[in-house]
Amino acid sequence: MAFFTLIFRMVSAITLNFCCQKDASTPATCANCGGDHPASYQGCPAHVAYKEARDKASADSRNRQRPKPNTRRVPARAFIPAPPPLGN
Ligand SMILES: [Zn+2]
Repeated sequence: MAFFTLIFRMVSAITLNFCCQKDASTPATCANCGGDHPASYQGCPAHVAYKEARDKASADSRNRQRPKPNTRRVPARAFIPAPPPLGN
């Protein structure tokens, strides 16, 4: 193992132990809404609002009218016959 990798892992372990002081008995706090559930809870009001907005945007894009293809016919030019040959 490289020296710097070892140092990085030691510093990470020290930092994580220093920062994460919450034990399992402490109730979870949602990072999205501040409620008393984990942030991965599917019934979180913030998640439900996100899903509704996402579904509405998806339905709007699905129902948006696409421009119709151009089916208007271009009028043909008047037929002009070639002049008759001057002689054989
Ligand atoms: Zn929440």
